[in-house]
Parts: sequence; C-alpha cells; structure tokens
Amino acid sequence: MTNIHPIETLYDRLINTFENTSEITNARLREYQDSQLSRYIKIETGNFSTPYSDHDTKEIVLNKRFLCLMWCLNYIILEITQNKSRTAIKITDTYTVMDSEDTEVKELDQLFDWAFSLKNHNSNDEWPENLPNPTMTSYKVRTANVIFMDAVSYIMFHEVAHIVNGHWGSYKEISLKFKNRDVLNEQEKALCVQLEQEADTFAYECMVSSNDDEDTRYHKQLGIIMAGLSSMFALKAKTRLTSLTHPSIHIRVFNSRERTSFSEGNEFHLDRVMNVGLSMFCRLHGIQYEDQNFGSFNSLLDYFFNLLDASGTQELQH
Ligand SMILES: [Zn+2]
Repeated sequence: MTNIHPIETLYDRLINTFENTSEITNARLREYQDSQLSRYIKIETGNFSTPYSDHDTKEIVLNKRFLCLMWCLNYIILEITQNKSRTAIKITDTYTVMDSEDTEVKELDQLFDWAFSLKNHNSNDEWPENLPNPTMTSYKVRTANVIFMDAVSYIMFHEVAHIVNGHWGSYKEISLKFKNRDVLNEQEKALCVQLEQEADTFAYECMVSSNDDEDTRYHKQLGIIMAGLSSMFALKAKTRLTSLTHPSIHIRVFNSRERTSFSEGNEFHLDRVMNVGLSMFCRLHGIQYEDQNFGSFNSLLDYFFNLLDASGTQELQH
C-alpha cells in the first residue's frame, strides 16, 4: 500500500494536459512564462475552496478537495448518462430513476455523499475504500480521467486569463468592496460579468483548436460542461448562482454549451449530461421542477435555465 492519495496520482498528467492542450496553447503559455504567469501550479490541501489565481505570485491555485469533488461528479454524471441509462427503471426528460438495488448505483450514492462532505470544514479527505477512484484501470475510470483533465484544464485557462489579461487591476476594488459586504453598483456588476465572460472565452479558445477532430472536440466540450457544473455544485447555496464575483454562473454554463455543434449522437449525450447535472443540482438545493414532456432538449434546457435564473434572483431579494 502506498500513501499516495488517488487524486494526487493525476497531478502530473493534469499539468501535462494543461500545458499541451494544443500547439497554440503551448506557445501562448511559453510566451507568458515568468513575466506574467508562474508555471508552478499550487495545490492547496486545506479546507474546501474553489480555484483562483494568486495575483501576487501569478500562480493558479487549485484545492485538493475541490478536485476530488470534481472528479466524483464527473464520474457520477458520466455513469448515469452512459452505463446506468441501460439499467435505469425510468428515464424522463427531467429525471432518471435508477435501480436502488444495483450495487454500482449504491456506490455512486456513496461517492456522491463523500464528495459533498468535502465541502464541510475539516472534512476527511481520505478516499473511501472500495469506491471508484482515479487509480482504477476500468474503461469507465479511464474515460472519467480524460474528461476530468479537460475540465480542470478549462478552469486553469480561465484563471490564466485573469492573470495575463490584468483583470486583477479592475477587480481589486470590487473584491475589496465584496469583502466588506458593500453593494456593487450597476457598472461594477457589469464589469464583473464582462471579465468572467472574457476569461471563459479565452479558456475556450485555449482548449478547442480548429485542427481538432470531432472526437477530440467532443471530449473537450464534455470537460468544459463538467467544469461549469462543478463550479455550480461547489457553490455554498443557490443564492450564489448570481454571486457578485462570479456572476450568474449558470448563464456561463449554458453559454459554453452553445459555442459549437456536434453529430447527432454526441449532441444527444452532451445535452443529457447538462440535463442530468442540472436536475441533480435542482434536487440538491430543493428547487422544485415539474416532470413534463419537453419535446426537445433545447426546450428542456430553457426550462432549467429559467428555473435557475428565477431561483437565484429570488433568493438575493430576501
Ligand atoms: Zn473567474
């Protein structure tokens, strides 16, 4: 038995994927080297926190518990939308009922519980024995690892954008205000939205290159969606959906889905991943949704979008 935590076995591969996403990205990162961006990726092992960029050291900071939550979510959603769809008792537009006697479904439940316990203060980050983890060699774990790498790379490029585009200059005052719980004016709110969208666009352009074939583009797109869903699930409460420093995270998740199109089968799976992720999120936060027939995934996604939009704003008004 070694003492290496399962998530740590992915760190080298993670940095390698990030640095070699495409030739353009590789060149960009070399260009930024030292002057604007530290090549050292810092991994925090403290209490749960979402990724951020340290503007003094120019480092991207990732939190180990966040990475574990992200891996588990990614694995669970892929399992529900791929393998477990075949044995599901009922699948409707808004939810999937899985066979609760199925041992793999029980494992997914346990993995979900552990992953979300990581958000608690001083939580135990030891990976529970006998549950799926990144060191396993099954096809589904290897697939989950690939998508996970893309998802984390996307988040890292988002942070790179904040560092190299000097966003901190504009953010500094705003984040101080946020810390002091001062109310942001409309102009400051708009600036936050603009900078976040700019960072997302930068990250997307770093990830997807025009030379990518459909398969590559598809797994990168899955990663981008997983990154967005993970950021939503990392929020403390649904009120934070319209949080002031990362405005309207759900809008950004939906935007990322609309950037490009795929073959019918891939489109279907990408939409299903969004659908399962969003209905899981609604259930987790007690956001009521109806089981109705939507006819198309687009109208279903519109439904979720409006639901989340209303729920985020409503809470803020309290
Ligand atoms: Zn950001």
